[in-house]
Amino acid sequence: LGGSISRAIQQMSNATIIDEKVLNECLNEITRALLQSDVQFKLVRDMQTNIKKIVNLDDLAAGHNKRKIIQQAIFNELCTILDPGKPSFTPKKGKASVIMFVGLQGSGKTTTCTKYAYYHQKKGWKPALVCADTFRAGAFDQLKQNATKAKIPFYGSYTESDPVRIAIEGVERFKQENCDLIIVDTSGRHKQEASLFEEMRQVAEATKPDLVIFVMDSSIGQAAFDQSQAFKQSVSVGAVIITKMDGHAKGGGALSAVATTKSPVIFIGTGEHIDEFEVFDVKPFVSRLLGMLLLFPVFDIFESGMGDWSGFMDKIHEVVPMDQQPKLLQKLSEGNFTLRIMYELYQNLLKMGPIGQVFSMLPGYSAELMPKGHESQAKLKRFTTIMDSMTNEGKQKMLFIWFYLLHKLDNSNPKLMTESRIMRIARGSGQPPREVMDMLYEYKCLAKVFWSKMKGLKIPKKSEMSAL
Ligand code: GDP
Ligand code: MG
Repeated sequence: LGGSISRAIQQMSNATIIDEKVLNECLNEITRALLQSDVQFKLVRDMQTNIKKIVNLDDLAAGHNKRKIIQQAIFNELCTILDPGKPSFTPKKGKASVIMFVGLQGSGKTTTCTKYAYYHQKKGWKPALVCADTFRAGAFDQLKQNATKAKIPFYGSYTESDPVRIAIEGVERFKQENCDLIIVDTSGRHKQEASLFEEMRQVAEATKPDLVIFVMDSSIGQAAFDQSQAFKQSVSVGAVIITKMDGHAKGGGALSAVATTKSPVIFIGTGEHIDEFEVFDVKPFVSRLLGMLLLFPVFDIFESGMGDWSGFMDKIHEVVPMDQQPKLLQKLSEGNFTLRIMYELYQNLLKMGPIGQVFSMLPGYSAELMPKGHESQAKLKRFTTIMDSMTNEGKQKMLFIWFYLLHKLDNSNPKLMTESRIMRIARGSGQPPREVMDMLYEYKCLAKVFWSKMKGLKIPKKSEMSAL
């Protein structure tokens, strides 16, 4: 008896140590990811302290999936940081609202102004653009071009050098024309300069905006904190838009911007094109911060770890026949992740037994998508069968166009795949439509990972590869 009690006590204390160790390992891992994603150091440190308070070590000892508990707590904590607790001013259709955009030069203000106008125009608003940037040569031309393309009324001047005057005139004119969303684009400077902030203060005072939107480039890194604070001090920022989320940056500066301005992020910019603009959605954003691709409901993704890209590359070397490697890697690095490549990848993966392991190495790969063991084997087989039924070139072509569109469109809405097309493929492959949809969804998820990760990847030389 004595032996079993002491053993139990020993186990208990071991468990606590292990749980603390798991907690610390987890926190360190995530701290690293967050710092790499440009989340401000102080925010990360505060979050760490908070998590340690929130996560109860006893719960962990009892819980089956400790990492999941911890990571879920961290995920929630980050979502909380991004929620300032009150919504931003929402303009009302039919009632003139003045929206002023501020941000450093190059942050994407002018582009974002047009995107914002276009987004609302499609929803039946009457937007208008005012170019109050008299600082940068060509600013008016740029806005004019954007606005003309989108058929949005605009106001500006080639000769007037006083931004306050243009802002007042423009806002006045569009109020008379019954526009309900009057957007004022302002100038920026390369750096945070006193003259810029004074100008912003004056334009705001003259136009009395209902909402000031701070536009921030996602790639500015740790500078986000100072920058957003500086703007907040001169004008009353009420919302944030993060641009260039299509690039490499993860956008951790958003947390700083929300913290300093106490305003929510309302949209993100995901490309140079006018419709590459999305309503901000906190969960996928946080997933991305943590280094995960997440296109669908959360938490299961944690099962698969944070994703290990180099591990995945090693695996490619392992499973893809040597002579096919250069071609595959070349294609991947060009960002051409086609259905055919996915097919080849699956074919090779099918040969190697338990594939859960391989897939778990894919950055952001969700366990939900790829069930473990036999089931996943079977799923891959069904997927390849479906793809086999698409070898006809004409069909392929049609599908690629379709995939491309899907990739561009809202990926959380499978309804966008037209039913008749799915039925057609389902009939051709003898698989239930649900399966076809699953496969397409999967393709889209994978394609997104590859498109974002593989661009610009250094391709190992053939000699290096044969050494593996
Ligand atoms: P401004 O100086 O703040 O008015 O910035 P601009 O609107 O002129 O944008 C600066 C550059 O960033 C331009 O080349 C834009 O095309 C580009 N840009 C703006 N938003 C995005 C975005 O979301 N993604 C990408 N890739 N480029 C963007
Ligand atoms: Mg501009």
